[in-house]
Amino acid sequence: MKLLEGKNTIVTGGSRGIGKGIAKVFAQHGANVAFTYASSAQAAEELEKELSEMGVKAKGYKSNAANFEEAQSLIKEVVEEFGSIDVLVNNAGITKDNLLMRMSEEDFDRVIEVNLKSIFNMTKAVQRTMLKQRNGSIINMSSVVGVKGNAGQANYAASKAGIIGFSKSMALELGSRNIRTNVIAPGFIETEMTDRLDEKVVEGWRDSIPLKRGGTPEDIANACVFLGSDLSTYVTGQVLHVNGGMLT
Ligand code: NAP
Repeated sequence: MKLLEGKNTIVTGGSRGIGKGIAKVFAQHGANVAFTYASSAQAAEELEKELSEMGVKAKGYKSNAANFEEAQSLIKEVVEEFGSIDVLVNNAGITKDNLLMRMSEEDFDRVIEVNLKSIFNMTKAVQRTMLKQRNGSIINMSSVVGVKGNAGQANYAASKAGIIGFSKSMALELGSRNIRTNVIAPGFIETEMTDRLDEKVVEGWRDSIPLKRGGTPEDIANACVFLGSDLSTYVTGQVLHVNGGMLT
């Protein structure tokens, strides 16, 4: 069953990892997909082609989610091209890990800007369109680290916890207009990024997870399908933990 047939969706950070998984699973469910990237132009071009071959409308946009004006012009372009925006997935994110002792002000600010301010930028940008439609689903990508904290990731944890507070506030502000805002908190998801880690470290992680494996981008994408589709029309302001049962 195609759960997103004909819906127009935007996924930030779609060129790799989880975002790419979401774009592909959305297309499999019949959604038209606009996605963004920061610098991976070739990967974006290939994905655009792959999605188009699945029979949906698809387009990649180079757009820095941390920049307020770029978010505004992105949404303007997407609305012109696609007509409406039914689902926004704020997935773009970065890490700049270090113990507080060694964390620079620059690395703190950058992570907050890309991970948290981006969500303010994108929500502000789509708000008018979704208000007019009286319909919309916004899905924001947090992390288990935003719920539990993590040594060496104070900047990242702060950004991901901030996402939860922002999203719960949006659920309250926008609910009367049928705009839903939910959060996904992934656990350890195996992407190109985690491929680079030492196999022993990864084994240790897998072992500590009740379901005994790392998650896949598709595990997160399937949760996004639920929150983006009409299966969740009475769900807003929630944090969905997709982590194989890790304690949070
Ligand atoms: P990833 O493989 O590093 O991919 C990040 C994506 O975000 C890329 O498409 C990248 O584009 C894009 N991006 C980075 N900065 C951007 C910016 N300023 N504007 C627009 N796009 C930008 O990351 P991932 O592992 O898939 O993670 C995706 C999201 O899930 C992140 O928010 C992350 O914090 C969260 N998450 C991941 C895990 C995990 O275990 N992997 C766990 C919990 C939460 P380019 O390719 O052009 O650089």
